[in-house]
Amino acid sequence: MPELPEVETIRRQLLARIRGRKIKSVEVKLARMVNVPAAEFEKTVANASVKNIRRRAKILIFDLSNGWSIAVHLKMTGQLIYDGKEGIGKSHIIYTFSDGHKLKHYDFRLFGYAKLIKTDEMEKLLAKENFGPEILDGNFSLVIFKNLLAKKPRAKIKPLLMDQKFIAGVGNIYAQEACFCARISPKRIVGTLAAEEIKNLYQCLQKILAAALARGGSSVDAYVNALGEKGGYVPFLKVYGREGKPCIGCRGKVKTIKLAGRGTSFCPSCQR
Ligand SMILES: [Zn+2]
Repeated sequence: MPELPEVETIRRQLLARIRGRKIKSVEVKLARMVNVPAAEFEKTVANASVKNIRRRAKILIFDLSNGWSIAVHLKMTGQLIYDGKEGIGKSHIIYTFSDGHKLKHYDFRLFGYAKLIKTDEMEKLLAKENFGPEILDGNFSLVIFKNLLAKKPRAKIKPLLMDQKFIAGVGNIYAQEACFCARISPKRIVGTLAAEEIKNLYQCLQKILAAALARGGSSVDAYVNALGEKGGYVPFLKVYGREGKPCIGCRGKVKTIKLAGRGTSFCPSCQR
């Protein structure tokens, strides 16, 4: 699933291309992708301009000039591609801009959505989700992270990092990478973390997400950016997807376990 670096990459690329652009028409080819009848979605969005594109957790929010917003979640296999390359499978929603450019929303496993919501109701809706802080937001301090952890002493660290209500934007890839970076086992119980380990983890989360964002994210599964290109961070992943391969720290074997139902790779000797 696209995480913060991937969704933010798409946001930045689209913002540079479609901010201020008028949407001439939109075609919803698969009604279940949207939250209102397809014809209503098409009619409401047509002739509006894109005022801004925001991101909260893994959700992209397109604010339109007519008081409506579209919340897009790519979930497992969603792709938003502007012109150029084709995505996987069929496009389900096609936005055509008045300058002739197109933005296509693909989702071959169909878990994602595009929800049309009044802009002034969007905040209420996001508030209901109760998302945790954004890691790359300047307000996310070590003190905040410590206080959040203190509320979850019995949780296992890696699933907790993936909980969007705890912190926002981290999923299965970067939770594993952050644990490796901080030399903490993904199974560690939060209450056993020393102050130094918490500080390391805090720094690792920021460092890894920033590095992945700088490389345009990780193309595991279906992820491509808004131009249909793969992200460049996969060669820098240290444990994710490296089951049985030598650990880059100690040359021991990277081990993979199931943790809260998700495949989780780590080095049992480097991470304690
Ligand atoms: Zn190791």
